[in-house]
Amino acid sequence: MLGHRKILAGLQETIKNDNVGHAYIFEGPDGIGRRETALSFAAMLMCEQDHSACGECKSCQLFSEGSNPDFQEIYSAEKSISVDDIRNVLKGLVIRPLYSEYKIIIINDADSMTVQAQNALLKSLEEPPPYVVFILTVQSGAAVTPTVRSRCQRVLFSRFSNEEIMAILEARYQRRRPEWAFIVSYSDGVIGTALELIESPEYMELRDEVLNVAGRLLEDKDGDIFKIYELFEKNNDKIDFILRIMLLFFRDIIIYNQTANYNILINSDKKDMIIDNAGLKLSGLLKCINAVWSAKRGLEYNANYQLAIEVMLMKIKDSYV
Ligand SMILES: [Zn+2]
Repeated sequence: MLGHRKILAGLQETIKNDNVGHAYIFEGPDGIGRRETALSFAAMLMCEQDHSACGECKSCQLFSEGSNPDFQEIYSAEKSISVDDIRNVLKGLVIRPLYSEYKIIIINDADSMTVQAQNALLKSLEEPPPYVVFILTVQSGAAVTPTVRSRCQRVLFSRFSNEEIMAILEARYQRRRPEWAFIVSYSDGVIGTALELIESPEYMELRDEVLNVAGRLLEDKDGDIFKIYELFEKNNDKIDFILRIMLLFFRDIIIYNQTANYNILINSDKKDMIIDNAGLKLSGLLKCINAVWSAKRGLEYNANYQLAIEVMLMKIKDSYV
């Protein structure tokens, strides 16, 4: 369990006080730990040993094997959760729980329920069997109809501070790596993002490649745009990541250029590269940042990928004329 201990402790308290709600909305950005918290809460609710999530009672054992009949979880299979998905789950609710006091239903990404699905769910939220607990995870509660929302207790998962993310990483890996300053900044308070970057080496390799390309564009006025484009084509599924890297790189050059302080760089593990480029004019660097932003916006509005990227690369290359 990563962070959010306070939330879990609060939920545990409601079990002790026999004050468990029938439905909860866990609200917060993707990767922040909503599902993990929901699973921990479910484990406590279903545990036959004083709701301790003991791991040893029959209910806990079946839960950890993924075969506890008192527990169900829904995902959005395609783009949305359909009325049939919801009905399939609801029809088993009349049967009392087999092992514990509760039946738990987690609806992941409940903001992707169709309106019909939400209406189907509403009836159960209004008159739930006494042993049922629904947990809906959403990015934003606003995406769920007000009638559904009003039946649920809202639990807000806020972003962590950079210091908290770093502390969680250090506790988990028992060390600290130079590139973590970048990873912590990049993750923007979402622990899941930080972990994904650390555990998938291809992200850090791609970052190196992107930084080399950006550096080459700044230094070598004859950099071949069409050759450089190949990197963007090959990684078009990670374009958001690539563009963020470029923005943070230009940002760092500006910061160093203005302060000569490398302790406040996001890419502190790449400080030599930042310092090398710190002599560049502020106006040129701002043009680079603008070029990346317009590519980003263009792609959000379905601009032609190759055109948007090549225009961006050309603008960056020309920002020092
Ligand atoms: Zn147990």
